[in-house]
Amino acid sequence: MEFDLIDRIRRHTEVHRDDVVTGIGDDAAVVAVPAGRELAIAVDTLVAGVHFPHGTDAADIGWKALAVNLSDLAAMGATPAWALLALSTPDGDEAFFDGLARGFAELATPYRLALIGGDTTRGPLTVTVAVHGFSAPGEALLRSGARVGDVVMVTGTLGDAAAGLRCLAEADTAPYASLIERLNRPTPRVSAGQALRGIATACIDISDGLVADLGHICAASGVGADIDAPMLPRSSGLLTHFADVDALDFALGGGDDYELCFTVPADRAGEVGATLARLGCGATRIGRIVEGAGVRVLDGDGAAFEPTRAGWNHFVA
Ligand code: ADP
Ligand code: MG
Repeated sequence: MEFDLIDRIRRHTEVHRDDVVTGIGDDAAVVAVPAGRELAIAVDTLVAGVHFPHGTDAADIGWKALAVNLSDLAAMGATPAWALLALSTPDGDEAFFDGLARGFAELATPYRLALIGGDTTRGPLTVTVAVHGFSAPGEALLRSGARVGDVVMVTGTLGDAAAGLRCLAEADTAPYASLIERLNRPTPRVSAGQALRGIATACIDISDGLVADLGHICAASGVGADIDAPMLPRSSGLLTHFADVDALDFALGGGDDYELCFTVPADRAGEVGATLARLGCGATRIGRIVEGAGVRVLDGDGAAFEPTRAGWNHFVA
């Protein structure tokens, strides 16, 4: 690929790190893994028309492609270090490369995450990012450690991104800006994940929807989970623009929020709530781990919640 375009990306995303021996510009990047650290590695692909609507702003695409990967590192409790960016675009539009690199760098720079290489090809618009992070041996947060009696918690609020996607169809999207922002510029909960090391028994980031992703914790841990629907944290923006039943539907089944869902021993829930409140995202108790399998959603009276939409229902055991 034209070096000019690669150079544009490099210029926008310059983060200096002593552990990068050779970054962009050689056949492969060379990095020095700190002694006594394990590497957490994740890769995610965003395809135009599938993971973001055609016409999405280039900077938003760059941000989101990195955000979804940092969210995976957050869910492991890992500290971000390096990234690779593989880009396929139908044309070599310089403004698009600049915008994408700018959005990527806006998120990468505060984490001192270095872009150390990638690949650039012509083809349908697809953005793949791979990230590498550090964790101490045995410290990574897994999906498999939830125990009966643990409390289930989530960071932030749920449902905004799915609601934002719905709002894109409106003629005037201005009233829904806060929801659409959550869709286009998700905030990976990196510091929250790090704070949960040694405390959370299991952790996952919510990319497919709460019920689906908590279901992965249940399957990996060999347990079930009961969720109290009225406890689900929902933003004022969501509750302003949507009826309660729709807001619940988005919170239970909507993907793309990139909040963390995790389990902690019941006697540590208060401490975790206070710690994550200090970190800005907060954490809400939404249910508990029980014997059995799968996720049960309960209404305020402890009865099985009756869904009005089919979106998430097939995930319920
Ligand atoms: P090669 O033919 O050896 O794969 P490339 O021309 O694909 O070389 O890449 C040249 C250099 O630019 C490599 O260091 C590669 O990692 C980097 N690079 C290519 N595309 C990107 C990109 N989209 N983002 C970051 N680095 C890139
Ligand atoms: Mg290449």
